[in-house]
Amino acid sequence: MHESAQFHVDRLDWDERKAYVRRVDVDHYTQADRAVTLKPLDVFGRDAVAGGARLHGEVMVASLASIYKKLKFLTNENLGWGRIHLPEIELQTTAYWLAGEGLTGWRRTELDVALLGAGRAIQTVASVLLMVDPHDLGLVTQVRSPHEEAPTIYLYETVPGGVGLSERLFARHDDLIAGASALIGGCPCDAGCPACTGPRLEPDLDAKGLAARLLGELGAPEVLTAG
Ligand SMILES: [Zn+2]
Repeated sequence: MHESAQFHVDRLDWDERKAYVRRVDVDHYTQADRAVTLKPLDVFGRDAVAGGARLHGEVMVASLASIYKKLKFLTNENLGWGRIHLPEIELQTTAYWLAGEGLTGWRRTELDVALLGAGRAIQTVASVLLMVDPHDLGLVTQVRSPHEEAPTIYLYETVPGGVGLSERLFARHDDLIAGASALIGGCPCDAGCPACTGPRLEPDLDAKGLAARLLGELGAPEVLTAG
């Protein structure tokens, strides 16, 4: 307990898999790479949708520091690497999620890329629809969620307890799917980019095509692309 008081978490950035944590009593930032896990605690609403189900409820987001580097405050000079032994940081908040129970015939590696790419696009569309900062919503994708026993995309609120965004996302599920599909279909890139499906982590896989296919199976209307 006493250890956690020495650190202040400035923000969680799932996209870069980092949490920005600050030592309260010293003049440098500590930048930690974290593994984030998400576990639903309570389901407030659930509806069947194309390809599966939409849900919203209470979740626990936990992140563990793996490695860190100390950055000097003003210069960003790297002061060196070292193991960090922070307590696990837990965030109890609310989330909207999409469980693809009806998805079949996917290769695991392709599904992983499709979920992340579609999730990134849904996250982008969500922040526009709700007119919030993109950092107000965190993204977690799971090829097989232990809770849903299905491929799942979670958008969680980064404010502890949530401020009602999740329920609004739940209500606008169809717009999110259609908007994400349009965002990806309308992007001029070839196979996925930071503006649509996010940074390409698997260069050999067509993140754009896979995410578009996934969103189609989740009920997105067909997107007409120019050229
Ligand atoms: Zn793109």
